[in-house]
Amino acid sequence: MDYKNFIGGAWAATAESIPNINPSDTTDTIGFAAKGTVSDLDKAIDAAHEAAPGWATSTPQQRFDVLDFIGTEILAREEELGRLLSREEGKTLPEGIGEAARAGQIFKFFAGEALRQSGDHLASVRPGIEVDVTRSPVGVVGLITPWNFPIAIPAWKLAPAICFGNAVVLKPAELVPASAHALVEIVSRAGLPDGVVNLVFGRGSELGPRMIDNEKVNAISFTGSVPTGRGIAAACGAKLKKVQLEMGGKNPMVILDDADLDVAVETCLNGAFFSTGQRCTASSRLIVTEKIHDQFVATLYDRMVALKVGHALEAGIQMGPVVDNRQLEQNLSYVDIASSEGGKVLGGQRLDLATKGFFMAPALVTETSNDMRINREEVFGPVASVVRVKDYDEALAVANDTEFGLSAGICTTSLKHAHHFKRNSQAGMVMVNLPTAGVDYHVPFGGTKGSSFGSREQGRYAAEFYTTVKTAYTLP
Ligand code: NAD
Repeated sequence: MDYKNFIGGAWAATAESIPNINPSDTTDTIGFAAKGTVSDLDKAIDAAHEAAPGWATSTPQQRFDVLDFIGTEILAREEELGRLLSREEGKTLPEGIGEAARAGQIFKFFAGEALRQSGDHLASVRPGIEVDVTRSPVGVVGLITPWNFPIAIPAWKLAPAICFGNAVVLKPAELVPASAHALVEIVSRAGLPDGVVNLVFGRGSELGPRMIDNEKVNAISFTGSVPTGRGIAAACGAKLKKVQLEMGGKNPMVILDDADLDVAVETCLNGAFFSTGQRCTASSRLIVTEKIHDQFVATLYDRMVALKVGHALEAGIQMGPVVDNRQLEQNLSYVDIASSEGGKVLGGQRLDLATKGFFMAPALVTETSNDMRINREEVFGPVASVVRVKDYDEALAVANDTEFGLSAGICTTSLKHAHHFKRNSQAGMVMVNLPTAGVDYHVPFGGTKGSSFGSREQGRYAAEFYTTVKTAYTLP
């Protein structure tokens, strides 16, 4: 299968291509993605620029019909799309199907939002004058997405962009072209005018800077790593270009003495290791109070070693492979770093299984302190560390002692502590007796501090990024 660029309503091949390899079985080449050049990107931006004014004046009904068509088809094909996603990214089949379904639901949500757009009509403080506050589309938006949610993240940027009348160029991550291609193929049949949605595959380091540089791009929505995001923010700042960044995390999960042990263990098993720990919201710092610490660690360890690691598409597998060899090496090097810093490492070794893939055992690092690198830097793999603390106050201080602020959780049966944590955790999303990962599609998503920059994604708050507010005064 060849994954071509989609520019101005037509599929376009490129001279060079990038192979798409199955991380569960490296002998399986899923397809070849176009390797777009800066000139291909410029053509896509030109097409979006030309299409933007027309789509900006489309009716709510037109937008609803397009978004509803896309959502309906994704949901009807969730099994097939989920299988493709799991094959190229490595999350287990149920996780892949769940992600595909979520993408469909996001389009359905924004179909509804297209009908619910509203503004304000106010009396002026000056006599006889009326004031209208309305939202206009931003124009051409560049969407840059990571590999770990190959269909959901493109969906949660594309759907609001279309809903609020913008034209876009999507640049997906190099490792997962098949899901983006399948999504845009559906979009291409949804009734949108040519040029409203464009897709360009290629190297982020080459295409990303050009997307920011091109004067016809009005805004950039990026999800990915902190270093890339920081560079994008600086470049957009210099051009006064609207920018939204969702980046990494080092998400704390606090376990208090009064927690239900089963809930705590289940929550951490899911938060730390599901999706191979490759979630920006993964629980990577488990902050545990003294009395429950040993029992919690022993029970979590027993559950962790029982997790079935293997080929993402095999029935019964609970943890798939790491996405590629570079990420696997990074994970293993963090396991070594944790050990050399004095942490006690359980698991975390490379695994040779029936198929040649990027497999590792999940790792739990105990006896760590919050100043160790393993607790300060994002690993982005199935590696969780445990910090032992005295009480709730120390747990909260440790949880907040990080440059990140995406998601934070607490397991407790104390209403008082749960309430206090919700108010005083410095993360953008807070979970009580739930994993730090796993969120709804109809409410805002995003963090504080080094994890996020700009306005929130998803839910009704997505309007902040994809529109510009206009205030009009009339003397009738
Ligand atoms: P990455 O930063 O390497 O790449 C993300 C995207 O940016 C890719 O499409 C890539 O091609 C592109 N890119 C690379 N260099 C660029 C440049 N110079 N200019 C513009 N674009 C460029 O990240 P990744 O490895 O694909 O994804 C993993 C990271 O994403 C993790 O840090 C994870 O926490 C984060 N993430 C965050 C969220 C969130 O919503 N907060 C969600 C998922 C993943």
